[in-house]
Amino acid sequence: MSISNIHNFLQAHSIKGFLCHEEGTALYQYAKLAASVGPVLEIGSYCGKSSVYLGTACKEADGVLYSVDHHRGSEEHQYGEEYHDEALYDAANQCMNSFPEFRKTLMLAGLEQSVVPMVTASETLVKHWSGILGMVFVDGGHSPEMSMADCVSWAEHIAVGGFLAIHDIFESPENGGQGPYLGMKAVLDSGRYQLQDRVMSLAILKRVS
Ligand code: SAH
Ligand code: MG
Repeated sequence: MSISNIHNFLQAHSIKGFLCHEEGTALYQYAKLAASVGPVLEIGSYCGKSSVYLGTACKEADGVLYSVDHHRGSEEHQYGEEYHDEALYDAANQCMNSFPEFRKTLMLAGLEQSVVPMVTASETLVKHWSGILGMVFVDGGHSPEMSMADCVSWAEHIAVGGFLAIHDIFESPENGGQGPYLGMKAVLDSGRYQLQDRVMSLAILKRVS
């Protein structure tokens, strides 16, 4: 599937999400490079928008995408919050549940053989993770604590030459929350990563040592 076909697919099926096409295009391009280095992993599947870009790249490179989300929503998705979507709310159990929508997206996109859903919290998984990854995309909880923990803990598992992509980077507090920016800074301060690319609010870091 070409990048314009991905765009058309997302539009035609009104796939919900928080990612613009330029950012998705960059994810697709870097995942294509990374998929031969090792598996790609994302934190924050939601309804599968970023997963379609990353997963299509993995499919084409004969790789795999692990897509991690507890599907209970971030703080801003909870009932009564700014980004709450009542279509994703499980009223009987009074909780968010984006997993059915996510699975539907994978099915429609023909990605069920290339994307492995992992329905769990990132912090639960990373504690037990042992494999080397080609690329990680961090787009889960956006608080400073969560973003820093995700960036720093998953950065350990990426191969030299692989990529760490971080979404929602805002240098200035007027433009958005500082969590992902602080996470990126912590990883760069380790000296093991260099800034490779920047597309809107998406930063791509490359592991150099
Ligand atoms: N990447 C998506 C948007 C992700 S929104 C897109 O392209 O549209 C953020 C997602 O992170 C939510 O679905 C939320 O459930 C998930 N999330 C928040 N905290 C998490 C955590 N600690 N572990 C796993 N997923 C988490
Ligand atoms: Mg985001």
